[in-house]
Amino acid sequence: MNRFDPPGGRPWGLFALCGASMLLNVVLGTRMLLSPGTHEPAVIAPEMPAPAAVVHEIADPPVPVQPVQPIEPVEDEAFAEIEPEVPAEPAAPEIPDDVRTASLKIEHSLARTFSNGIGDGGDEVAAVVARLFVWDLDLRRDLQAGDHVTVAWEGSGPGLQIPAARYRSKKLGTLRAYRYTAEGDTWPSWWNEEGVEVSRALKDSPIEGYEQITSLLKDRPRHRGMDFKAPEGTPIVSPRDGVVTRVDWNVKNNGNCVEVRYPDGTLARFLHLSQTDVKEGARVAKGSVVGLSGNTGHSTAPHLHYELEKNEQVVDPIDYHGLTRRTLDPAERARFDARIARLDAWLEAADRK
Ligand SMILES: [Zn+2]
Repeated sequence: MNRFDPPGGRPWGLFALCGASMLLNVVLGTRMLLSPGTHEPAVIAPEMPAPAAVVHEIADPPVPVQPVQPIEPVEDEAFAEIEPEVPAEPAAPEIPDDVRTASLKIEHSLARTFSNGIGDGGDEVAAVVARLFVWDLDLRRDLQAGDHVTVAWEGSGPGLQIPAARYRSKKLGTLRAYRYTAEGDTWPSWWNEEGVEVSRALKDSPIEGYEQITSLLKDRPRHRGMDFKAPEGTPIVSPRDGVVTRVDWNVKNNGNCVEVRYPDGTLARFLHLSQTDVKEGARVAKGSVVGLSGNTGHSTAPHLHYELEKNEQVVDPIDYHGLTRRTLDPAERARFDARIARLDAWLEAADRK
C-alpha cells in the first residue's frame, strides 16, 4: 500500500463496476457501428441527409487525396486526376534492372577508384565519367583525397552510357550531369541541375549534327585535334572563310580529307570524311560545306577529326574558336526537373548502399 491509497485500501469493487460498465458501452457501441442496418447509427451527425447515403459513407469512407508534388503548383485538373491510392511515403526509387550504380571515395585516380570499386569494367566506367566531366574537372590537377563520385551506368564497352553522375570535389564543389534529350535535339546530352549543358561546343563549329565530342586535344599527347562522333554523311562546314590548300593527302591515315587555309594563315584539317565536296584552290565561305563526315582512313568509328596548325604548331581549336554552352529552354524545365528528380533518387540510393 502506498501513501496515495485511501484509508481501508483501494475500492476494488468500485473499480470492477466502472470497468464492467465501460466494457458494456464499448461492446454495445461496436455492435451498433458494425450492423448499421439493425441499429440507429449513433455516429451520424444530425445535419447529414438521408440514412441510405449515410450508411454508404460509413461503409466506404473517402480516402483523402495526397498531393504528390507539394513544391510545384499543381493545376486543379491535374489534382482531380490524381488517384487516391498514391502512397503518402515516397516509394523506393525504381532503378531499372540494367542500370548499375556505384558510390565511391576517390582513390588516387578515377581509373583506380573504379577498378578497385567495381572490378571488371571499372576502367571503362572511369573513362566515360572522365569524358563527361572533362570540361570542368582536370583529372591531373583537381582530384583530391576525400572527393566522392556517384554514378549510374548501363551497358558496357562502346555502348556504355551514363544516365547520371555526381562528383563531389573539395576543390570545385559538386558537379552533376544528367542525361537528357532537349526538345529538338537528335541525341541526349548531359546537363547540370540548373539546366546548363555540361559539355561545351566550339563557337563556329565545323559540325553541328554531332552526338558528342569524344576527344580533346589535351586528352592524348599525340592526338592533334578534336574528335566529333557523328553519323556518316553529316555536313562539315568551314568555320572561316578560306582557300582549299589540299584534298585527299595521306589517305591511308586521313581517309578522305580537306585542308583549308584561313585568312590569318591557320591551316584547318577535316579528316576521315566519307566524301569531299571542294577542289584544291577553291575559295570557301564561312559556313559552306567542304564534305561529309565518315569513317575513312585510320578511324575506328564514324567521326570528324578537326585540327588546326599555325606556323607548324598545333593549335587547340578550343583556344582558337572559343567555347559556348547551351541552357535548356525554360518551357521544358518541368520535364527536365522531373527527370533529374528520378535520377537523383538513383544516386541517393547508391550513396545509402
Ligand atoms: Zn582525332
